[in-house]
Amino acid sequence: MRFTVLLCFAFISSFLLTSCNSAPSVEPGVSLGLAQFRKAQISDLEYDLTFRIPKEQSESIPASETIRFNLKSTANNLQLDFRESPENLKSLTVNGQPTDIQFQQEHLILPSDLLNEGLNEIGIEFTAGETSLNRNPEYLYTLFVPDRARTAFPLFDQPDLKATFDLTLKIPESWEAISNGPLETESTKDSIRVLDFAPSDLISSYLFSFVAGDFESLTRNVDGTEMTLLHRETDSEKVERNLDDIFTLHKASLEWLEEYTGIPYPFKKFSFALIPNFQYGGMEHVGAIQYRASSLFLDEDPSETQLLGRASLIAHETAHMWFGNLVTMEWFNDVWTKEVFANFMAAKIMNPNFPDINHDLNFLVRHHPSAYSVDRTEGANPIRQNLRNLNEAGQMYGSIIYNKAPIMMRQLELLIGEEALQEGLQEYLSDYSFGNATWPALIQILDEKTEYNLARWSEVWVNTSGRPHFSWKYIKEELPYSTLEYDVLIQEDPTEENRIWSQQTSIWILDKDSVAKSFTVVSDTLSEFATLNELKAPHKVFNANGEGYGLFPADLKTLDAWPHMKEVRKGSHLINLFENMLEQNRVAPPEYLNRLSEIIQTEENQLVLNLALGQLQTIYWDLLTDEEREEINEDLEEILWSEMLEQDESSKKKTFFNAFRNIALSDNQIQKVYDIWNEDLEINGLNLSESDYISMAGNLAVKMPDQAVDIIEAQTDRIENPDRQRRFEFIKPALSPDATVRDAFFESLKDEENRQTESWVLGAIGYLHHPLRTNQSAKYILPSLELLQEIQVTGDIFFPKRWLDVTLGNHSSDEAVTTVRNFLDERPNYNEQLRMKILQAADMMFRANKIKN
Ligand SMILES: [Zn+2]
Repeated sequence: MRFTVLLCFAFISSFLLTSCNSAPSVEPGVSLGLAQFRKAQISDLEYDLTFRIPKEQSESIPASETIRFNLKSTANNLQLDFRESPENLKSLTVNGQPTDIQFQQEHLILPSDLLNEGLNEIGIEFTAGETSLNRNPEYLYTLFVPDRARTAFPLFDQPDLKATFDLTLKIPESWEAISNGPLETESTKDSIRVLDFAPSDLISSYLFSFVAGDFESLTRNVDGTEMTLLHRETDSEKVERNLDDIFTLHKASLEWLEEYTGIPYPFKKFSFALIPNFQYGGMEHVGAIQYRASSLFLDEDPSETQLLGRASLIAHETAHMWFGNLVTMEWFNDVWTKEVFANFMAAKIMNPNFPDINHDLNFLVRHHPSAYSVDRTEGANPIRQNLRNLNEAGQMYGSIIYNKAPIMMRQLELLIGEEALQEGLQEYLSDYSFGNATWPALIQILDEKTEYNLARWSEVWVNTSGRPHFSWKYIKEELPYSTLEYDVLIQEDPTEENRIWSQQTSIWILDKDSVAKSFTVVSDTLSEFATLNELKAPHKVFNANGEGYGLFPADLKTLDAWPHMKEVRKGSHLINLFENMLEQNRVAPPEYLNRLSEIIQTEENQLVLNLALGQLQTIYWDLLTDEEREEINEDLEEILWSEMLEQDESSKKKTFFNAFRNIALSDNQIQKVYDIWNEDLEINGLNLSESDYISMAGNLAVKMPDQAVDIIEAQTDRIENPDRQRRFEFIKPALSPDATVRDAFFESLKDEENRQTESWVLGAIGYLHHPLRTNQSAKYILPSLELLQEIQVTGDIFFPKRWLDVTLGNHSSDEAVTTVRNFLDERPNYNEQLRMKILQAADMMFRANKIKN
């Protein structure tokens, strides 16, 4: 009792006033106040759910549920979350009493006078909301992260009210389905298949899920672990080629995680569904992971990067079973903790499976460029952000949590040591098993294992945005009897707030006699690293081990030392050069592009090669003026074409071919791509899949407007797979040479219905804004920005930022810049998170505009 009173006192001093005595007011979404109030009131939560899914996509889904929970006090009404029309609610029973539906601002109200202290049972008949059911003609899948379960059925939708979900699905006879719990019983009656799943483990609402539809179901036992896979791929060779790897990669990830965490796989079952055109790479629903099918079923001759990408995706989602699913963040402001550990563990898990890969290099190219792409912008966000209402949780996601946070975590591991980190994580996972935790709780555990003040360290790395700027200086001090000479690395806070990102990094130098040396430094403000002046050491690579983070100095002349550099140093140097080019620090795009075109002709390492080719294409389309591009384009086409022919390895051949067809601009070179697409020209060793032909057709339609109609029609006839067929049908108008057709297509995107399959929409918008069309597509920028707030409400977590990226990415005109600047200036009270997303996505546009002018 005393404890409660004290607690209330503490709360009154903060803004959480509502948590103690009175129920929070009714407002849309799930506010932090509502979540904290319910967490204090509700326990032992169980849902029994039944959905009857008709074969016809147009028919609605009748559903019912029973919710059981213990309640502390009946002083207040309780709010269930349901973001749908109240018409969907058919009946409500509270503890056996039928009662009228009271619906306010996305909430179904449970009246306090019908509630019990102790056990309560709520019965609801309703029509399921469809926003997050992803219905397709032959299948559907739920995707409820972060707060979308409430769009489908009434519940307490917050991550710290974990519950068991006992699901019954009634589906068409020929369909298959998976969910979080194992299948318990099944029966078929009147062409309806009734699947009764066992109750799920104790899970957060965003992790509840099912997939149902016309899927192929395969079950395998891999060394004692039973796994079920659902897929819809029609190319049986492709399935055969990939299956073994998919199962064994999952098994290897599970084994590694059990070993590292000291906790056996904590849930009742393990299965996954491969879904065509899934919104992003994957989603870690407990025991029922969803993947984008094309991320796991790879085409023939996958590149090393694709193989690595697949392995790390599988490791990432599997790691979530412990990091995120077993121990979950209390609130979505800490969603990054589950993502950082999933990525961080994925990197550790992959290593033994790819002994030939340089993993430090792989970590570098996967994390640094992407993290910098946000942290260098005016809209950079810290890793940990405030979140007032779960309806804004989608905005927490992005490169900072996926890419910067793992870099931070690696520095943390360097600081406290691998063993201490593992011990700390084991403690954290076992202390909070089947519960919830915060980042400060973990830092507290780790703090006890080190002398270092982790809370202070975390304050800069985690709670603030941006990156340090580095420079170096040669210092010569004349002392009375001697001379002191040394070089120092200087770390500075570009915003002059005197923050220090304590970190380990290294510097590699090649002196004038071609002798190489490395120096590892712990960088605070000034770190001594060598005693070599410019004349003695003309070549320096900063952050040579790839562990550091920031804007490091780099110059083009150090590329002369390329043959002496090891792989990570090459990667780091290219990344540093690219960042300096964007900051307009002595690296000019045309000159750098020339150097890159030399590098790609000799570089053997595929990760370095991909990095160089990626940078080259970005510079070519975004940072060169039209004249500069014309000047270089024929030589570059020649280089890429002949490199493509020369490669023995099929995957490298394809890498060069993809770059070639992307940059091809001269008539005769575009004709070559056309001939290959039309199968008039065959390149020995170049294996192209149906997806490759489809994307070639799209590219050709833009570059050969006179023949576009024929190309599109021929490609339509050639597609065999029904899912790819539907996608192409959707994208077609965006490829049209007729601007009025494209305008009408863009107009159609204003209707939510037409934005449902997000990966299709992004593909189509990419064509609308192709670099060759920016003069005609600049007019879509303003209406696209105007749609953003609605998209944030209707779209899935990554969609708003990706919508902005594909819309703004290729523009650099004054007109485009002015449109974006004015849009923000005219809306001083615009949603802060969305403002940041716009500034992040417009960064390349702003910089390209400056560089070109
Ligand atoms: Zn994840």
